[in-house]
Amino acid sequence: MPNSLNREICCYCGALAETKDHIPPQSFFTPDEKKSIQLITVPSCFNCNNSASASDEAFKVISGLCAARLNKCSPDYAKSVRKTLLENNKLKSLLVNAENINEHEKKILIPTKIKENFNSVIERIVRALYYKEYGSILSVKNLSVDILIGFDIEHTASLIKNKNTVISFLKNINFYSLKRKIVQENVFEYRYSIAKDAIDASIWCLLFRNCLLVTCISLPDSAGF
Ligand SMILES: [Zn+2]
Repeated sequence: MPNSLNREICCYCGALAETKDHIPPQSFFTPDEKKSIQLITVPSCFNCNNSASASDEAFKVISGLCAARLNKCSPDYAKSVRKTLLENNKLKSLLVNAENINEHEKKILIPTKIKENFNSVIERIVRALYYKEYGSILSVKNLSVDILIGFDIEHTASLIKNKNTVISFLKNINFYSLKRKIVQENVFEYRYSIAKDAIDASIWCLLFRNCLLVTCISLPDSAGF
């Protein structure tokens, strides 16, 4: 959102924005997708935009592994993920011998370091989408992230319901009442809602490649979660 000097501020830290950041990160898309999809951009300062490439690659590989495991990985995306992995020895060695995906429990078991990277990308996406949808910076420090493989609406619905007892703003929310935006069918869509009576309280369900569903809840820091 332009400030009074008509300069844009970084949607992550509030500094002057010199660049545009892509959401999800550009590396998530195949070359063909980049040409055909209207990618979301948000204003970002140079530091915030350039501090995330290692995380972006981890995110790309994890979403690729999920898609592959569920046979939802297009040949183009598989090729793109393979290339990233071949060029990133550090990431490759972290993943070797790791039990990456426990499909039965619909949970991703990934090495801690990669999980930190993955979560940091999710956090960035949520902060960017919050800014895009509401025109202000999400100032809350901690976001709770729940990762699911498979488009498991029922689990997400029960997750939201379970949180109802402790988080008042979720009381009248269910998965189907969330606002839905489709960026590109089978590539990326998201659902969201914001509390009307509590600044910084919001819920985001991000669906990547129709198989990786990530729910993210932000709460005011004062809520103690
Ligand atoms: Zn910044």
